[in-house]
Amino acid sequence: MHGNEHDVLGMLDSVLLALFLPCLGMSAVFIVYMCLLWYATAHHRDHGLPAKPVSATGLSPSQLDKIPQITGKDLVLGTECAVCLEEIGAEQPARVVPGCNHGFHLECADTWLSKHPLCPLCRAKLDPALFSSSENPC
Ligand SMILES: [Zn+2]
Ligand SMILES: [Zn+2]
Repeated sequence: MHGNEHDVLGMLDSVLLALFLPCLGMSAVFIVYMCLLWYATAHHRDHGLPAKPVSATGLSPSQLDKIPQITGKDLVLGTECAVCLEEIGAEQPARVVPGCNHGFHLECADTWLSKHPLCPLCRAKLDPALFSSSENPC
């Protein structure tokens, strides 16, 4: 009896396998076909464009407001702006990147940071906690 049961189970396995394998094969072929199609379309589209648009991952004006604003005389790490390569005057408004303390002209920093959420000089990423911490004014 035990032997028979084993045979039946074995046969069932082969039947399932025989049904399952062609399905698996078809699915695989279909997936590969879809991938190739997608790749060809994406590649073709990419080719026609002169340049990829800059992704909007920079800071919003409200986030820029949360970055410390100082004047040139308060700069601790040199007074050269790495964005425009000019000196930051003692009375000129400047922004200092939290974390690395690099300073830049207010306009230079805002222009850069609205496109890239990192320090233009050392590429340190801005801490997202900086923008979420002051959400509740109480
Ligand atoms: Zn500048
Ligand atoms: Zn920096």
